[in-house]
Amino acid sequence: MGTPSLIKIFQTLEKAYPSPRGWPHGEWPLSGEFRPRRLEVVVGAVLTQNVNWKNVEKVLTRMIEEQLVEADRIKRCPQAFLENTIRSAGFYRQKAKRLKGITQFILAYPGEFYSEVGREELLSIPGIGPETADSILLYACDRPHFVVDAYTRRLFTRYGFLNPKASYQEVQQLFESHLPADVPLYKRFHALIVEHAKQVCRKTPICKDCVFQEECEYRPAER
Ligand code: SF4
Repeated sequence: MGTPSLIKIFQTLEKAYPSPRGWPHGEWPLSGEFRPRRLEVVVGAVLTQNVNWKNVEKVLTRMIEEQLVEADRIKRCPQAFLENTIRSAGFYRQKAKRLKGITQFILAYPGEFYSEVGREELLSIPGIGPETADSILLYACDRPHFVVDAYTRRLFTRYGFLNPKASYQEVQQLFESHLPADVPLYKRFHALIVEHAKQVCRKTPICKDCVFQEECEYRPAER
Protein backbone atom coordinates (compact mmCIF):
# COMPACT_ATOMS: atom_id res chain seq x y z
CA MET A 1 0.00 0.00 0.00
CA GLY A 2 1.49 3.37 -0.97
CA THR A 3 1.08 6.89 0.37
CA PRO A 4 -1.99 7.73 -1.73
CA SER A 5 -3.82 4.74 -0.25
CA LEU A 6 -3.26 5.76 3.36
CA ILE A 7 -4.21 9.34 2.55
CA LYS A 8 -7.23 7.98 0.71
CA ILE A 9 -8.27 6.07 3.83
CA PHE A 10 -7.94 9.29 5.81
CA GLN A 11 -10.07 11.18 3.29
CA THR A 12 -12.71 8.46 3.28
CA LEU A 13 -12.91 8.59 7.07
CA GLU A 14 -13.13 12.38 6.98
CA LYS A 15 -16.15 12.15 4.73
CA ALA A 16 -17.73 9.46 6.89
CA TYR A 17 -17.19 11.36 10.17
CA PRO A 18 -17.17 15.12 9.56
CA SER A 19 -16.93 15.76 13.31
CA PRO A 20 -15.65 12.88 15.45
CA ARG A 21 -17.49 12.91 18.77
CA GLY A 22 -15.60 14.62 21.57
CA TRP A 23 -12.51 15.38 19.44
CA PRO A 24 -13.17 18.76 17.78
CA HIS A 25 -10.88 19.01 14.73
CA GLY A 26 -8.98 16.03 16.09
CA GLU A 27 -7.80 17.94 19.18
CA TRP A 28 -7.54 16.27 22.59
CA PRO A 29 -10.69 17.19 24.55
CA LEU A 30 -9.68 19.70 27.25
CA SER A 31 -11.65 21.27 30.09
CA GLY A 32 -9.19 24.16 30.17
CA GLU A 33 -8.98 23.92 33.98
CA PHE A 34 -5.41 22.60 34.20
CA ARG A 35 -2.40 24.91 34.33
CA PRO A 36 -0.89 24.93 31.84
CA ARG A 37 -3.72 23.56 29.71
CA ARG A 38 -1.33 21.01 28.19
CA LEU A 39 -0.89 19.34 31.56
CA GLU A 40 -4.39 17.92 31.16
CA VAL A 41 -3.16 15.92 28.14
CA VAL A 42 -0.28 14.50 30.17
CA VAL A 43 -2.59 13.55 33.05
CA GLY A 44 -5.24 12.14 30.69
CA ALA A 45 -2.64 10.11 28.77
CA VAL A 46 -1.59 8.39 32.00
CA LEU A 47 -5.14 7.92 33.30
CA THR A 48 -6.43 6.40 30.06
CA GLN A 49 -4.01 3.46 30.19
CA ASN A 50 -6.20 0.31 30.13
CA VAL A 51 -9.44 2.14 30.83
CA ASN A 52 -12.12 3.77 28.71
CA TRP A 53 -12.30 7.51 28.25
CA LYS A 54 -15.60 7.90 30.16
CA ASN A 55 -13.83 6.88 33.38
CA VAL A 56 -11.00 9.29 32.62
CA GLU A 57 -13.46 12.17 32.25
CA LYS A 58 -14.94 11.39 35.67
CA VAL A 59 -11.49 11.33 37.24
CA LEU A 60 -10.44 14.58 35.59
CA THR A 61 -13.57 16.22 37.00
CA ARG A 62 -12.66 14.91 40.48
CA MET A 63 -9.12 16.22 40.11
CA ILE A 64 -10.45 19.65 39.16
CA GLU A 65 -12.79 19.61 42.20
CA GLU A 66 -9.80 18.79 44.40
CA GLN A 67 -7.68 21.48 42.71
CA LEU A 68 -5.18 18.90 41.50
CA VAL A 69 -4.65 20.86 38.32
CA GLU A 70 -0.99 21.86 38.53
CA ALA A 71 2.11 19.67 38.41
CA ASP A 72 3.28 20.99 41.77
CA ARG A 73 -0.02 20.19 43.52
CA ILE A 74 -0.15 16.68 42.07
CA LYS A 75 3.43 16.03 43.11
CA ARG A 76 3.00 17.42 46.64
CA CYS A 77 -0.39 15.99 47.61
CA PRO A 78 -0.35 12.85 49.79
CA GLN A 79 -0.17 9.62 47.79
CA ALA A 80 -3.30 8.22 49.49
CA PHE A 81 -5.28 11.37 48.65
CA LEU A 82 -4.30 11.14 44.99
CA GLU A 83 -5.14 7.44 44.90
CA ASN A 84 -8.56 8.12 46.36
CA THR A 85 -9.23 10.96 43.90
CA ILE A 86 -8.37 8.88 40.84
CA ARG A 87 -9.81 5.59 42.11
CA SER A 88 -12.34 5.18 39.28
CA ALA A 89 -9.54 5.25 36.68
CA GLY A 90 -8.63 1.66 37.64
CA PHE A 91 -5.09 0.58 38.61
CA TYR A 92 -5.26 3.71 40.77
CA ARG A 93 -2.23 2.93 42.96
CA GLN A 94 -0.04 2.41 39.92
CA LYS A 95 -1.46 5.45 38.14
CA ALA A 96 -1.04 7.68 41.20
CA LYS A 97 2.65 6.71 41.27
CA ARG A 98 2.93 7.42 37.56
CA LEU A 99 1.29 10.83 37.91
CA LYS A 100 3.65 11.71 40.71
CA GLY A 101 6.57 10.46 38.64
CA ILE A 102 5.74 12.48 35.55
CA THR A 103 4.85 15.67 37.43
CA GLN A 104 8.14 15.37 39.32
CA PHE A 105 9.87 14.98 35.96
CA ILE A 106 8.11 18.05 34.51
CA LEU A 107 8.99 20.18 37.54
CA ALA A 108 12.63 19.10 37.50
CA TYR A 109 13.02 19.39 33.74
CA PRO A 110 15.95 21.69 32.98
CA GLY A 111 14.33 23.35 29.95
CA GLU A 112 10.79 24.12 28.78
CA PHE A 113 9.23 20.68 29.11
CA TYR A 114 6.56 20.94 26.40
CA SER A 115 8.80 22.31 23.68
CA GLU A 116 11.99 20.44 24.53
CA VAL A 117 11.26 17.03 26.04
CA GLY A 118 12.37 14.10 23.87
CA ARG A 119 10.70 10.74 23.32
CA GLU A 120 13.53 8.81 24.96
CA GLU A 121 13.32 11.04 28.02
CA LEU A 122 9.60 10.34 28.36
CA LEU A 123 10.17 6.61 27.93
CA SER A 124 12.69 6.70 30.78
CA ILE A 125 9.90 7.65 33.25
CA PRO A 126 8.47 4.55 34.98
CA GLY A 127 5.07 3.60 33.55
CA ILE A 128 5.37 5.75 30.43
CA GLY A 129 5.30 3.45 27.40
CA PRO A 130 5.37 4.30 23.70
CA GLU A 131 1.64 5.01 23.32
CA THR A 132 1.53 7.33 26.34
CA ALA A 133 4.76 9.07 25.29
CA ASP A 134 3.52 9.60 21.73
CA SER A 135 0.14 10.88 22.95
CA ILE A 136 1.98 13.45 25.08
CA LEU A 137 4.31 14.41 22.23
CA LEU A 138 1.51 14.76 19.67
CA TYR A 139 -1.27 16.33 21.74
CA ALA A 140 0.59 18.22 24.48
CA CYS A 141 3.77 19.14 22.60
CA ASP A 142 2.39 19.43 19.04
CA ARG A 143 5.09 17.25 17.56
CA PRO A 144 4.54 14.78 14.69
CA HIS A 145 4.52 11.39 16.44
CA PHE A 146 1.83 9.04 15.15
CA VAL A 147 -0.03 7.40 18.05
CA VAL A 148 -0.57 3.66 17.68
CA ASP A 149 -3.34 2.34 19.90
CA ALA A 150 -5.43 -0.83 19.99
CA TYR A 151 -8.04 0.72 17.67
CA THR A 152 -5.38 1.55 15.07
CA ARG A 153 -4.03 -1.98 15.17
CA ARG A 154 -7.46 -3.57 14.92
CA LEU A 155 -8.70 -1.52 11.98
CA PHE A 156 -5.50 -1.61 9.94
CA THR A 157 -4.71 -5.25 10.61
CA ARG A 158 -8.15 -6.23 9.39
CA TYR A 159 -7.83 -3.90 6.44
CA GLY A 160 -4.59 -5.62 5.43
CA PHE A 161 -2.18 -2.75 6.05
CA LEU A 162 -0.52 -4.16 9.17
CA ASN A 163 1.16 -7.37 10.16
CA PRO A 164 -0.58 -8.37 13.42
CA LYS A 165 2.79 -9.27 14.93
CA ALA A 166 4.48 -5.95 14.12
CA SER A 167 5.98 -4.11 17.09
CA TYR A 168 4.76 -0.68 18.17
CA GLN A 169 7.83 0.89 16.59
CA GLU A 170 7.32 -0.93 13.28
CA VAL A 171 3.67 0.10 13.06
CA GLN A 172 4.50 3.69 13.88
CA GLN A 173 7.27 3.81 11.29
CA LEU A 174 4.94 2.38 8.68
CA PHE A 175 2.41 5.16 9.25
CA GLU A 176 5.01 7.89 9.51
CA SER A 177 6.76 6.77 6.33
CA HIS A 178 3.46 6.83 4.41
CA LEU A 179 2.23 10.18 5.70
CA PRO A 180 3.66 13.69 5.71
CA ALA A 181 4.94 14.77 9.16
CA ASP A 182 1.90 16.93 9.78
CA VAL A 183 0.64 17.43 13.35
CA PRO A 184 -3.00 18.37 12.52
CA LEU A 185 -3.18 15.41 10.10
CA TYR A 186 -1.88 12.96 12.74
CA LYS A 187 -4.31 14.28 15.34
CA ARG A 188 -7.28 14.20 13.02
CA PHE A 189 -6.41 10.77 11.62
CA HIS A 190 -6.14 9.30 15.11
CA ALA A 191 -9.51 10.76 16.12
CA LEU A 192 -11.11 9.32 12.97
CA ILE A 193 -9.61 5.88 13.58
CA VAL A 194 -11.01 5.88 17.13
CA GLU A 195 -14.43 6.97 15.85
CA HIS A 196 -14.53 4.31 13.13
CA ALA A 197 -13.35 1.59 15.52
CA LYS A 198 -16.04 2.54 18.04
CA GLN A 199 -18.87 2.87 15.56
CA VAL A 200 -18.22 0.21 12.93
CA CYS A 201 -14.93 -1.67 13.13
CA ARG A 202 -15.78 -2.86 16.63
CA LYS A 203 -14.58 -6.00 18.33
CA THR A 204 -17.35 -7.66 16.32
CA PRO A 205 -17.25 -5.51 13.18
CA ILE A 206 -20.37 -4.27 11.41
CA CYS A 207 -18.88 -4.66 7.95
CA LYS A 208 -22.15 -4.12 6.11
CA ASP A 209 -22.11 -0.48 7.33
CA CYS A 210 -18.42 0.10 6.61
CA VAL A 211 -17.03 2.51 4.03
CA PHE A 212 -14.12 0.10 3.45
CA GLN A 213 -16.12 -3.06 2.85
CA GLU A 214 -15.01 -3.30 -0.81
CA GLU A 215 -11.26 -3.08 -0.26
CA CYS A 216 -10.87 -4.43 3.30
CA GLU A 217 -9.10 -7.79 3.47
CA TYR A 218 -10.99 -9.04 6.51
CA ARG A 219 -12.22 -12.48 5.48
CA PRO A 220 -15.77 -12.30 4.14
CA ALA A 221 -16.65 -15.52 5.97
CA GLU A 222 -16.14 -13.62 9.23
CA ARG A 223 -18.35 -10.71 8.23
S1 SF4 B 1 -14.94 -3.96 6.43
FE1 SF4 B 1 -15.27 -4.73 8.51
S2 SF4 B 1 -13.28 -5.40 9.26
FE2 SF4 B 1 -12.94 -4.12 7.46
S3 SF4 B 1 -12.57 -2.07 8.27
FE3 SF4 B 1 -14.76 -2.23 7.82
S4 SF4 B 1 -15.73 -2.90 9.72
FE4 SF4 B 1 -13.52 -3.28 9.91
